[in-house]
Amino acid sequence: AAIITVKNLHKSYNDYHLFKGISLDVKKGEVVAIIGPSGSGKSTFLRCINGLENFQKGEVIVDGIRLNSNNRLNPSKEDMEVIRKIRLKVGMVFQQFNLFPHMTVLENIIEAPVKVLSINRSIAIENALTLLRRINLENKADSFPEDLSGGEQQRVAIVRSLAMKPEVMLFDEPTSSLDPEMVGEVLYVIKDLVGRGMTTLIVTHLMQFAHEIADRVVVLDKGDIIETGLPDEIFINP
Ligand code: ADP
Ligand code: ADP
Repeated sequence: AAIITVKNLHKSYNDYHLFKGISLDVKKGEVVAIIGPSGSGKSTFLRCINGLENFQKGEVIVDGIRLNSNNRLNPSKEDMEVIRKIRLKVGMVFQQFNLFPHMTVLENIIEAPVKVLSINRSIAIENALTLLRRINLENKADSFPEDLSGGEQQRVAIVRSLAMKPEVMLFDEPTSSLDPEMVGEVLYVIKDLVGRGMTTLIVTHLMQFAHEIADRVVVLDKGDIIETGLPDEIFINP
């Protein structure tokens, strides 16, 4: 059964009709790499899945939560509730790390679990420390983001997302703003997460990495899914 269903998705920006009815099903535990040229709609596609973008037609269903086309245009109370629910299912990591600069690493991680999920503070701290141990950054719990390298900040951004216990993780070019020597440590964390069975969609330009971790590769071009297949089928010359 699919945990993510995108059906007949239409998305326009002003007068630019980007998606003209694309569809995709993702199974629980599946890892899908989304590749394609710049401007093909990869980022918009991910943003439609967690309710960051409105769309004009079609539907997005994540773990039974159905986001309809008009959820973001003049959202009603019910629409806001659907967006809230879908965000609880979907964790997202961006190119920029987006940590709160005035909070420590630990505070960054426990903020949403305490405020949004109403998890007891001491339990949230325990969970956060467990996550930090997993990425070898327990010693940075009381540091501020500016004292961390880019790679460290992105690793924290990933576990901050995981602290909300999402069903699905979306990665939008998670290594694109990193210095080359820091790419490996972030890929390592993503690989570890995938190894734990997390349903994952990742937009990346790193073809070798996509080949390595993806169960399936989706190729976007000008807002259209032009190809989808096994990594070995898509990357004929890796
Ligand atoms: P990709 O992630 O593949 O580089 P994007 O999803 O960022 O592609 O963008 C797809 C297309 O939509 C591009 O042509 C881009 O110019 C356009 N686009 C993206 N965001 C906006 C926006 N906020 N307003 C208008 N056009 C946009
Ligand atoms: P691979 O076998 O995929 O090349 P490595 O074990 O060589 O992975 O690690 C890749 C990078 O990740 C190295 O720079 C390593 O220091 C770093 N790394 C190792 N363990 C962790 C961890 N738990 N969290 C984050 N980065 C790690």
